[in-house]
Amino acid sequence: MITKKMLDGFNKQLNAELYAAYLYFAIGAWFEGKNLEGFAAWMKSQAFEEMSHAMRFYNHILERGGEVELFEVKKPEGSWSTPVEAFQAAYEHELKVTKMINDLMDLAHAEKDNAAIYGLLNWFVEEQIEEEDQTLKVVEKLKMVGDSKNGIFMIDKELGGRPLPPTQTIVNPGAGKD
Ligand code: FE
Ligand code: CA
Repeated sequence: MITKKMLDGFNKQLNAELYAAYLYFAIGAWFEGKNLEGFAAWMKSQAFEEMSHAMRFYNHILERGGEVELFEVKKPEGSWSTPVEAFQAAYEHELKVTKMINDLMDLAHAEKDNAAIYGLLNWFVEEQIEEEDQTLKVVEKLKMVGDSKNGIFMIDKELGGRPLPPTQTIVNPGAGKD
């Protein structure tokens, strides 16, 4: 059983994770348009990972007898004129998500929802450390190379090594970190 407050919080977070996927698909498309295919691949992979985050909430709600409520996913906001701006937008979005997860954790403590704390939210607290770290690292590398085309191409090549997650881990995340 879950309380109404927790259920509303989960459904809201499910929507926020889907919005993150939208945002990263949008940024990925922007990179693709600039022929920076490595950055694009990284963003698309991250977008699918965001869908797996949404599925963690979806699965948790259903496992606990709650009702999944799918709200409208808003149009991704923002425009970018350089790779560093685009990655900065991703980093800033992750900071927002971290805040939302922390708020949800506070709510879970207030509601004494141990299943949410240990079965779902602890994982997200750790995951957000990775999400902030990996986006910030790219922002910093891009700042380091500045306008150097060579530098940008090198980072593009490095990020292009990130594969798309397999469908199974998107739909049924749970084993291992993503
Ligand atoms: Fe996420
Ligand atoms: Ca991750």
